[in-house]
Amino acid sequence: MITEYSVKELKKLLEEEKLTSRQITEIFLERCEKLNPDINAFLYINKEEALEEADKKDRERSEGKAEGRLHGIPVALKDNMAAEGMQMTNASKFMEGFIAPYDATVVRKIKDEGGIILGKLNMDEFAMGSYNEFSAFGPVKNPWDRERTPGGSSGGSAAAVAALMTPISLGTDTGGSVRQPAAFTGLTGLKPTYGRISRYGITAFGSTLDQVGILSHGTEDCALMLSVLAGEDPMDSTTLEGSGTDFSDFAKGNLKGIKIGIPVKFLEGLNADIKENFDRAAEELKKLGAEVEEIDLEYTHLSLAVYYIVASAEASSNLARFDGIRYGIRAENSGTITDLYKDSRTEGFGEEVKRRIMLGTYVLSSGYYDAYYNTALKVRTVIIEEFKKIFEKYDAVMTPSSPVFPKKLGEKGASVLDAYLNDLYTVPANIAGIPAITVPSGFKDGLPQSFQLLGNYMDEKKLLQISYAYEKENDFVKTFPEGVK
Ligand code: GLN
Repeated sequence: MITEYSVKELKKLLEEEKLTSRQITEIFLERCEKLNPDINAFLYINKEEALEEADKKDRERSEGKAEGRLHGIPVALKDNMAAEGMQMTNASKFMEGFIAPYDATVVRKIKDEGGIILGKLNMDEFAMGSYNEFSAFGPVKNPWDRERTPGGSSGGSAAAVAALMTPISLGTDTGGSVRQPAAFTGLTGLKPTYGRISRYGITAFGSTLDQVGILSHGTEDCALMLSVLAGEDPMDSTTLEGSGTDFSDFAKGNLKGIKIGIPVKFLEGLNADIKENFDRAAEELKKLGAEVEEIDLEYTHLSLAVYYIVASAEASSNLARFDGIRYGIRAENSGTITDLYKDSRTEGFGEEVKRRIMLGTYVLSSGYYDAYYNTALKVRTVIIEEFKKIFEKYDAVMTPSSPVFPKKLGEKGASVLDAYLNDLYTVPANIAGIPAITVPSGFKDGLPQSFQLLGNYMDEKKLLQISYAYEKENDFVKTFPEGVK
């Protein structure tokens, strides 16, 4: 048995030949077999192939050819990422049985570095949602309290790492889907700068917002995975020149000279427990040498309204390709081609996806385009300018990751609008395209707590630096939920 579960620690065990890759892979697969029937984090476990790959890695190591930064390490993927030969459902009935014909760029990069793909993870259908209850294949349970949601839409990615079913996972973050589930399960969760990581081979939701993110036990694993994934990709024209660099050399030490801004007005009305934890974390950062000051963000609260217009508009356009002809299910006995489209979409999509498509189609329709979509784009520009100004003076902006604790699964009474409103603190980073990270900061009644740091464009290193300095002094990432080991 092992007691260490981070990539960093597992790499060390491999290098010191204390464990083989096969043994490590078996440990995680065993836990998958034991826990997944209840937690439901994996939609597909790649057992045979993963073990075969692990044996191959062990042979390479014994021949002195263990090359690659993830050599022999298992990694799990959100089910909206293409991994050749594996199912890719987006947690939608529409795509049930679809087998990806090629690797997404991120998957190819993981394989090139010697990583082993452990399986595909549950999510809200097409990444739309915050609680993983919109999966067509059942909700995911939070390993910290199995009556509660692990968050969403990357709920499977979060629960699988938190329950020690995989050392690390990838998710996608369009409006918080990596950072909020990381917060709900006590993990480090990073959404990099828009354009940092290729989206080739990943199902598009909101194309100007989507970014691949990382869920890990701590900052160093996150930095390592970011180094593996980052970089310009000819297959994704939105990737940025110079985006591929090594992040593992982020500054480690005290936070002297680091300036952090807290947008106090934006935080008004915060839940008392969340506020208390947040204030404590801010004090801690000060003790570590950071200058923490109050700042004004006048327009950032409008991100939420902008997000639900822009994300829905882009989703309605992106999901037009799911028409019953090209991918997934096709309705039977439909008369005309229009009926075929309509019937297939009616059958295939779940209620939340339909709601987003309708909302998006509405805001893009000729009578309302200017009033909603165009106005949202203008406000988006204002928000981007506001952040640019702030980052002239500050290294990071600090907010909570989520204004609420994870709700109970199946809880009645909370409206769809409430769920949207709870994205308040995560969507600004997507609207502005800036990087942001969830940092675990304690527990309340057995549930994880955390805060969020937003950083300047392409300045993930600063976020990693602050996250690491905090984690060193307040190590919450090595506490695991009961009943998973
Ligand atoms: N909760 C947000 C939504 O439902 C975020 C989704 C995401 O980031 N994929 O749109």
